[in-house]
Amino acid sequence: MTTLADPVPGGRPGDVERATALGGELSARGVHGVVLSYVDTAGVGRIKAVPTAGLASAAAWGVGMSPVFDTFLANDSIVSTDVLGSPDGDLRLYPDLDHLTVLAGQPGWAWAPVDRITQEGEPHPGCGRTALRRVVSSAAERYGLTFRAAVEVEWSVGCGPAEGGEFLPACSGPAYSAARQIELSDCTADLLAAFAAQGVDVEQLHPEYAAGQFEISVGALDPVAAADRSVLVRQTIRAVARRHGLVVSFAPAVFAQGVGNGGHVHLSAWRDGVNLHSGGGGRHGMTAEAESFAAGVLAHLPALTAVTAPSPASYLRLRPSQWAGVFTCWGHETREAAVRVVTGTAGLRDRAANLEVKPVDLAANPYLALTCLIAAGLDGLASSAPLPEEITGDPALLGPDDAAARGVRRLPASLADAVTEFRADQRLRAALGPVLADAVIAVRQGEIAAVDGLDDERVAAAYRWKY
Ligand code: GLU
Ligand code: MG
Repeated sequence: MTTLADPVPGGRPGDVERATALGGELSARGVHGVVLSYVDTAGVGRIKAVPTAGLASAAAWGVGMSPVFDTFLANDSIVSTDVLGSPDGDLRLYPDLDHLTVLAGQPGWAWAPVDRITQEGEPHPGCGRTALRRVVSSAAERYGLTFRAAVEVEWSVGCGPAEGGEFLPACSGPAYSAARQIELSDCTADLLAAFAAQGVDVEQLHPEYAAGQFEISVGALDPVAAADRSVLVRQTIRAVARRHGLVVSFAPAVFAQGVGNGGHVHLSAWRDGVNLHSGGGGRHGMTAEAESFAAGVLAHLPALTAVTAPSPASYLRLRPSQWAGVFTCWGHETREAAVRVVTGTAGLRDRAANLEVKPVDLAANPYLALTCLIAAGLDGLASSAPLPEEITGDPALLGPDDAAARGVRRLPASLADAVTEFRADQRLRAALGPVLADAVIAVRQGEIAAVDGLDDERVAAAYRWKY
């Protein structure tokens, strides 16, 4: 379980002693440096690194980094809000020692996610990991709920580095094929070895639909740990691929046309160790609370896309009939519904049942995405929101009258439309807090301006290697 307490100057109780011991162990294992990792509002992983001997000091006093990165764009230009974006000020990055991991794909390095506090010791209101810790704590206090989550990771493997930023698939076998598995056999075997060494329980690894595309699914954890893990998984995939002379893209759309890279989120709510999505009297075994939780997610989805699909390139992926889930509807194991109700196999349901949210990609900051998804679900649960009728098949094939009668809406088709929905959603904005909510709006507007006048191919190219 992730520690939900804020860092404090001088270190959380016990952390300095622990970091001192850990530093010694890491050095003995040949680890020279620790990567301190977070994700900015645009969805880009940003880091500082310290030598292993500096870990105890980092646990006590944090490591400095400007707050300006909260309003960086994917192309490294800077926008601003009333509070963020100026060159002034400094923050302290505090590693979460519970999630410190020796990187098997980067010999000599370890990695840890960070929380960010001010120099005065206050939580930084732009810290997404802190926002997620808050929503998780408050769900436990107010509703007695805990959550389990996992982020599926899809990525495209290219020969590289290719000239002019082009993407040349590193394999040519068909989707889901044995041929493709054989073509990248050495690299994917090293990847599985790295995950095993890092304590990441991999459920599946397979060749996906698009050119050079693969997917990995990993075990569920508490939401903060799941967000951390999705960052670690990508760090590992990229590093192992490089050791094989390959490059990877997690961009929502490597090309303007065709299937993109998703980052589907699996989420379940639990009370006293019991999964609310299983064994209930509602549809497909859902309890009344789980149905209302799903209804809350569905109701907020149009606004959520500004957080879960945050890049102009996200809207090249979010197209009907590509398994990305672009209609506000749910279905049992339906891959075209934005919310897929997963019941799992008979015998495993009490553990496995969950909601899979599809209109999420890997440009999304996973901390912000999970904060907003949980807040949306809780909104439904708190108001006992009724879950609409389920759909089967592809909702793109419903006629307009039928879709309207069932409440099936197309999700925003552009980032600008998503931002309009997000602006109007008080519940999601409150979950992030005003500083982060304003940063989301400013950064999205910055991204929209950055691609002004570009055709779809150029939009895809602009973000191909950013995530
Ligand atoms: N690649 C699809 C997406 O963009 C998902 C395919 C799948 O269901 O795994 O979401
Ligand atoms: Mg997939």
